[in-house]
Amino acid sequence: MGLGWIRLDDGSNMRGRRKCRYCGKPAVVWLGYANLGLCAEHYVSCYENKIRRMLEKHRIRGMLMVAVSGGKDSMALLGTIGRISESLDIDVFAFHINLGIGEYSEVSEETVKRFCKDVRVPLIIYDCRKDLGFSIPDIVKRVQRPACSVCGIVKRWVINKVAYENGFDFVATGHNIDDASTYILKALMTNDIYSLVRGQEEFSESKPELRLVGRIRPQFYLSERENMLYVQLTNIPIVEDQCPYSRRATIHKYKRAWDVLLKINPIAQINIVRVMKKIRSMMAFPEPKLVQCSVCGFPTESEGGVCTFCRLMEMMKNSHN
Ligand code: SF4
Ligand code: ZN
Repeated sequence: MGLGWIRLDDGSNMRGRRKCRYCGKPAVVWLGYANLGLCAEHYVSCYENKIRRMLEKHRIRGMLMVAVSGGKDSMALLGTIGRISESLDIDVFAFHINLGIGEYSEVSEETVKRFCKDVRVPLIIYDCRKDLGFSIPDIVKRVQRPACSVCGIVKRWVINKVAYENGFDFVATGHNIDDASTYILKALMTNDIYSLVRGQEEFSESKPELRLVGRIRPQFYLSERENMLYVQLTNIPIVEDQCPYSRRATIHKYKRAWDVLLKINPIAQINIVRVMKKIRSMMAFPEPKLVQCSVCGFPTESEGGVCTFCRLMEMMKNSHN
């Protein structure tokens, strides 16, 4: 863990030596990159203000669907938005996809259900086995592609479809600075210029003519550590178990590189994301051209006019024969 982030209430030898900048109480966290100590109460309010500012900056109003997996990032996001939605004129709904990945998916659904009931946020559940006809393991077995790639295609398509068909104005997802910076790091290290140029953004507009619902990533500049501390301090239940497929996901290997890099420079993740954003704006790369998929009618960049999800479903059909 980088020197930019130190928990002070869990045995750190710096315990008691730092004070909250706002009230002078003992700090529970020390943010080295900002030279900032915070007590629990002020940590929670600072965290929620960051999310609030992101929603205000992009004028998020109306019906907002928060995609929740049950993990710390999306649960912190739902918890925060649930608390601040009224003052922002947002009608918040949670959306969970049961991927059908054995016990992991059952525990995830139960955890999300319990939390939504506690905070009185309406919940929509999409069950891959019932609503799509296949679980993620079914698809993985039959199309011989990496689980996370299949899962990503299904989740992206389902989230947009459900949001569009239920009249949502925006979708919020729990992407964070670890995701955004690792995406860039991996693209650099694998010579993947397409992903590098394209990047990940904190916000994308709705395109109703293409049946595309706008996306907001309110935790874009917050780290996994910050999200974890928020769920701990506000007692939000989360799924502790990892998805069984995550061990094979190469992205986690690249993520671990940050443990070393953040020791050298605690603000390196934010800098790498900002630098790429600036380069993209200076170079004015052409936007990917979106068209409607000729099968499902949802947007795709595919030149053949059939989206990756529909191609996946076609492969499933053919694997039956
Ligand atoms: Fe899906 Fe991979 Fe995440 Fe599991 S680890 S939920 S398969 S993306
Ligand atoms: Zn399609």
